[in-house]
Amino acid sequence: MSSTRLWGRDAGREVTCIACGETVDRADAREYDKHGDRWDRDDKQFEFLCKPCDSACCHQNREGLEEALVAARAGQTDQKTFLRRFCELTVEDAN
Ligand SMILES: [Zn+2]
Repeated sequence: MSSTRLWGRDAGREVTCIACGETVDRADAREYDKHGDRWDRDDKQFEFLCKPCDSACCHQNREGLEEALVAARAGQTDQKTFLRRFCELTVEDAN
């Protein structure tokens, strides 16, 4: 499925929340850039958070989140592996 073809008219496009794995409408998702510089859009594939996860994230300490995402190989491994590793890393962090 091509996502670039719909670039610019995201309505109706579905994205997957990187935190909970829910599929949500693009219009209901928040863009998340693990590199933290959303204005630099060249050659980038953005990740998404659903609104519940996005608001949950806002109440949590973000310190170490980028490192955890990179350590979990965000965007470089299949989603199942990434989510498992990310959960392990964040659980370890909380302890
Ligand atoms: Zn979510």
